[in-house]
Amino acid sequence: MNIRGYSGEFNSYIAKDFGKEYLVSRERHAEDTLIKVKNHVVGGNNFTIIAGPCSVENMEQINSLAIKVRNLGAHILRGGAYKPRTSPYDFQGLGRAGLEMIVDAGLKSDIPVVSEILDENDLSYFENVDVIQVGARNMQNFSLLKKLGRQEKPILLKRGQGCTIKEFLLSAEYILAEGNPNVILCERGIRSFEPYTRSTLDLSAIPIIRMITHLPIIVDPSHGTGRRELVEPMVLASVGAGAQGVMIEVHDNPARALCDGNQAQTPDEFEITTKKAMKLFETLHK
Ligand code: PEP
Ligand code: MN
Repeated sequence: MNIRGYSGEFNSYIAKDFGKEYLVSRERHAEDTLIKVKNHVVGGNNFTIIAGPCSVENMEQINSLAIKVRNLGAHILRGGAYKPRTSPYDFQGLGRAGLEMIVDAGLKSDIPVVSEILDENDLSYFENVDVIQVGARNMQNFSLLKKLGRQEKPILLKRGQGCTIKEFLLSAEYILAEGNPNVILCERGIRSFEPYTRSTLDLSAIPIIRMITHLPIIVDPSHGTGRRELVEPMVLASVGAGAQGVMIEVHDNPARALCDGNQAQTPDEFEITTKKAMKLFETLHK
């Protein structure tokens, strides 16, 4: 096990639920899984920065952000086209047109893209998307997970707001069990009684997940806190806890964002945060 600072005893009592009969288990596969996304490798001792708007709003917006986040060090561009909104009256995303816009922006700026799938019947529209995201609300949509397991694109699987680490890893197991080994896990906070943050970011999940599984684990401090000023401290804490990447929402004009403006960093803020994160990651892993 190449996780620093944890005793075998701690390892064995937490990992006992995931013996070698599980494909996600470290006992079965000791080495970190490495996932190729175009020219970038996610996992192992690589740090992955995913950035972009919550939602694709129009061509100009996604093109401009693609260039900016790529130039500031992002490896993957994010942007939702199918949005899982709590209220049916909120902006639902541009759908297929939005997906085409982010694919186009990624190709023009030479950066791979990730976007969320809500409905398994939409899978064919994701043909040119590099990584398919399964959001928190769909983490236990088992028929979607099985379908994504039967194709080859990497999956970014986010932890459900009300789900345990064990349930999270069992959802990943559904995808692996169908034949797709390329799953990137994403901690994005869980529902608690605390109202000052949108979710309670479960930082201890990171070293636990790194012990139990070989799959890469990244953190989304934007949805994890819901507040822009908390993104940077939680990025740095995530790196300290052993995260292999972060996903950060970035918008040119957060006040006018169609979705999640309160948690979006500006490109200037993103630049400062990612510089600190990269420096800390290098210090910890050199
Ligand atoms: C998102 O990343 O766009 C999103 C909706 O996040 P979550 O599923 O974690 O709420
Ligand atoms: Mn969002």
